[in-house]
Amino acid sequence: MASIFSKIIAGEIPCYRIAEDEKHLAFLDINPNAEGHTLCIPKTEVDQLFDLSKEDYAALMLFSRKVAQALKKTVPCQRIAMSVIGLEVPHAHVHLIPLNAMEDVTFGKKVQLDPMAMQGLAKRIAENLA
Ligand code: 5GP
Repeated sequence: MASIFSKIIAGEIPCYRIAEDEKHLAFLDINPNAEGHTLCIPKTEVDQLFDLSKEDYAALMLFSRKVAQALKKTVPCQRIAMSVIGLEVPHAHVHLIPLNAMEDVTFGKKVQLDPMAMQGLAKRIAENLA
């Protein structure tokens, strides 16, 4: 199903892009729980993660792993949390969240970064991709 993420994939809506390959895109969440909160999505329009084919599910996990490793190198944190949760956007997405406290993953606490900071952050994470 087409959603705002389809427009981001098509380049019709801008994003702070971190990584892209033929089948996936990673970009900063616009309303982050913590600095560096990233979304990894498949380019195919599939609403629910577990509706992806086995191959596409595994590929999304491997892509997310690569992005998580770059995120861990970039943003000081104890761990990178991974969560597939939410009801807002009907397009499968993996949240990667630098974790320093459990409230970083409750989706109740939000942080604000200005556009320059978001742009710089996305660039630094991208530079740390293996
Ligand atoms: P969920 O479906 O997980 O509840 O919400 C979707 C997530 O995508 C939220 O964390 C929200 O902040 C993020 N999001 C929604 N619209 C946009 C957008 O246009 N750009 C970006 N970068 N993130 C978005």
